[in-house]
Amino acid sequence: MKAIVFYEHGGLDVLQAAELPTPHVGPFDVLVDIKASALNRLDLFVRQGWPGLKLQLPHVTGADAAGVIAAVGEHVSGLHEGQRVTINPTLSCGQCEYCLRGEDQLCIYHAILGEGAMGTYAEQIVVPARNVVPLPDDVTFEEAAAANLVMVTAWHSLVRKGNVRPGESVLVVGAGGGVNSASIQIAKLAGATVFAVASNAAKALKARELGADVLINRAEKPDWGREVFTLTNRRGVDIVVDNVGAATWLSSIRSLARGGRMLVVGSTSGPKLEMDVRYVFA
Ligand code: ZN
Repeated sequence: MKAIVFYEHGGLDVLQAAELPTPHVGPFDVLVDIKASALNRLDLFVRQGWPGLKLQLPHVTGADAAGVIAAVGEHVSGLHEGQRVTINPTLSCGQCEYCLRGEDQLCIYHAILGEGAMGTYAEQIVVPARNVVPLPDDVTFEEAAAANLVMVTAWHSLVRKGNVRPGESVLVVGAGGGVNSASIQIAKLAGATVFAVASNAAKALKARELGADVLINRAEKPDWGREVFTLTNRRGVDIVVDNVGAATWLSSIRSLARGGRMLVVGSTSGPKLEMDVRYVFA
């Protein structure tokens, strides 16, 4: 099969086309002919590498894909060749103490396609059968592929860790990007009132199309934390979703109501900051 691989970390120029053997289909696996593969910021992090990252080279990056089942392992039931599916890109063993208590994201063998395992920039991929989800006919491969990793991340954060409840208020810091777009939709689905901080009017409009109820345009209201305070009658919100990190943490934590929860889903602006721990304590 053809794939896009890299033999060393670096910029865009390290990517190249290669011919790889068709992956082996284990008894509990399925082989998927990939019809659409989406891009994710994770792909850039993996291609550039980080200290301690050990990959089998050549490496195929790419976390997100959807396609058609080309073969099923001998112990797989309920799935068949020719079936349209999308792929949950998070792999876990299903047997360790974390998996057994339903916290598969903490699995000691946890991996993400394209990061700790071969990825989706390829014509085919083998994944455990429990990682594929049948795709309704009215959902395109492209739409499905674009949703996978960001939806898994946002769902885990808001629903499992954040325990979002109907009637609560959720502030999403940032209105562009995959995880934020997914968080807005999932928070709405859960029955929450969704606040979104957007960096400009166009992104604010997009957030509203996704279901956000209250938009704060950061270009007009740079002190958006204070704006949240005002808009909630000095109460704050129940949940803040922050994937920005150092640049927004202080405002995010100060936007919380008493007993509020802050969900950290990234640190794209930088990982280090100094803060008054009394805010966390209080
Ligand atoms: Zn496990």
